[in-house]
Parts: sequence; C-alpha cells; structure tokens
Amino acid sequence: MARYRDAKCKQCRREGEKLFLKGDRCLTDKCGVERRKYPPGQHGQRGGKMSDYGIQLRAKQNVRRTYGVLERQFRKYFYEADKKKGVTGEILLQFLELRLDNIVYRMGFSSSRDQARQIVTHKHVTVNGRSVNIPSFRVKPGDVVEIREKSRKIPVITESIESAERRGVSEWLEVDASKFSGKILSVPSRDEIPVPVQEQLIVELYSK
Ligand code: SF4
Repeated sequence: MARYRDAKCKQCRREGEKLFLKGDRCLTDKCGVERRKYPPGQHGQRGGKMSDYGIQLRAKQNVRRTYGVLERQFRKYFYEADKKKGVTGEILLQFLELRLDNIVYRMGFSSSRDQARQIVTHKHVTVNGRSVNIPSFRVKPGDVVEIREKSRKIPVITESIESAERRGVSEWLEVDASKFSGKILSVPSRDEIPVPVQEQLIVELYSK
C-alpha cells in the first residue's frame, strides 16, 4: 500500500501551516512550523508572489497532505464528487472525512491519521462488528466503529484516548471512550470539517 514518505514537518512548512501530521508533538514548541516559519529548501526564504495556479496547487496539496492521500486517489475522490449533485468541494471534503482512518483519528483512537492508518491495516478496528483493514473504507451515518476487544490494551491506542480529550470530538460523531467505540451520526457539513482551506480552489485546479 503506497503512502507519502516525505518528512512530515517539511510538508507542513511547505504549506505554511500546521497539518497535525505527528500527533502530540504538533501541540508542543518542537513543531517544525513554529520553529521555522518559511518553506523548506534552498530557496525557501526567498518569498515572492504566487501565481493563481500556485495558490490553487497549494490548496490541493494542503488537503491531500492533511488526509495522507496520494494524488491518484485524491483525483478519484474529486471526479466522484464532481459527478454528485451539490457543492463539489464540500462533497470532496466529506469523502475524505468519512475515510475509516480519518474516523479513527477523529474519534481519538489514534494521535494522527498516519497512526490511524496503521491501526486499521493491522486489523485492530471493526465496523458494525466486522473487521475492516482498509484505511480508505468509507463509513456512513449509523455505522459503529470499534477497537477490537483484544486490541484495547495497546499503548498507542490507550495513550491516544487520553490525549484526545484535548482535541475534543466533532459533533457529527458520538464516542464512548470507555467502550472504545463510536458512532457516525451524520455526514459532516462544511463548517464541521476543521480544514482551513478554500476547497473551491481545488475545484478550479482540477477543472482546467
Ligand atoms: Fe506539522 Fe506536526 Fe511537524 Fe508541526 S510538528 S510541522 S504540525 S507535523
């Protein structure tokens, strides 16, 4: 299974904002963006005005990196969203939010989406009582996501639940941390998705 392997803090610095890719470390002053507020690389500090294309590209990369999705799959999400009735950019973000790895992260069973991905692929998660090991699996309202009984003592999971209290849980999810379980109450609306990008820029980029 392919995944993006570039240094995580570099990805945030490239986007000029915190993408929270490293779990609890992102909340400390060791955060790469806090320490070096300029893009990585030899010409990182040069600055300069960005073209319209550059702005659209950065918006797309920001979202793609936030959810840890590769370009090909991201495009697939876009084309699928484009075919649906409604606001394409919002539907695209909803698809990304409803990925199982994102749900595990949002429910607080992992400290990052990368960690959630590993928890899912290692078969520690069930959806409606059935084991699912596909990070991109799309959940729907009413689905119940749980950590398998025999996986509930794994330190990364228990520690994440403790630290997740600081992050809080989205209103479209219902979580019972004592039972290692959560339910999807609804598809999140745009204002329930805390990703600070103008998704319209992504639509413009792919519509060229
Ligand atoms: Fe990004 Fe986290 Fe690294 Fe900060 S610590 S730059 S938020 S991955």
